[in-house]
Amino acid sequence: MQDLLDQVNAVRERIAAAVQRGGHGQAVRLVAVTKNHGPDAVEAIHACGVEDVGENRVQEALDKQAMVTAPVRWHLIGHLQRNKVKALDHFAMLHAVDSSRLADAVHAFGTVRGRAVDVLVQVNVVGEESKGGFALSDVAREAERLAGCSGVRVLGVMTMAPLDASEATLRAVFAGARQAREMLRAAGLEATELSMGMSGDFEVAVEEGATIVRLGTVLFGERH
Ligand SMILES: *Cc1c(COP(=O)(O)O)cnc(C)c1O
Repeated sequence: MQDLLDQVNAVRERIAAAVQRGGHGQAVRLVAVTKNHGPDAVEAIHACGVEDVGENRVQEALDKQAMVTAPVRWHLIGHLQRNKVKALDHFAMLHAVDSSRLADAVHAFGTVRGRAVDVLVQVNVVGEESKGGFALSDVAREAERLAGCSGVRVLGVMTMAPLDASEATLRAVFAGARQAREMLRAAGLEATELSMGMSGDFEVAVEEGATIVRLGTVLFGERH
């Protein structure tokens, strides 16, 4: 527990230093990624003052939610199947709108619910086959479409950099995400957030303007 608090404090200091270096002056929200960890990890991280947790699989998250009493905000950071959009009742934000078809399904769900669902548009800046998301060249067109979707509130962009990318590649990916956010704004969307940065690259992401970092390993150690 003390170890975890030490980790949280160390990470917060590293984030603050990266904001200084980057010069964007943004506030950064720490989302603790608790996938592959039990409900106890959620309780423990909340006790350390972290109010946001991220899960990448719906069923694992719902199972955990049933056992957690800490009032955390749950972020769905992984792919959502279109037939599972109802699960969005249980999350504060969906980070991974990775296709027009999913956007339409979420919009339809939000419309039925009578409240817009908070989402981020996932962008695949370098076109990695193994990852989902829109190519940068498709974002402007999708933004125009989303501007007509009252069932979603588009809060910004999410991206993942390739593992083991060079610093130059990381900066190019994160700058691409910033560009995508500009395209969303140009279409009239709210788009203030940039969800980018994982354990291996969060300082560079924050230097490049991240407003949300999603951190697992650096807080909890390696996943098993
Ligand atoms: C697992 C995961 C993370 C956290 O990764 P770490 O390297 O452990 O910090 C962040 N974002 C997404 C989408 C993930 O699936």
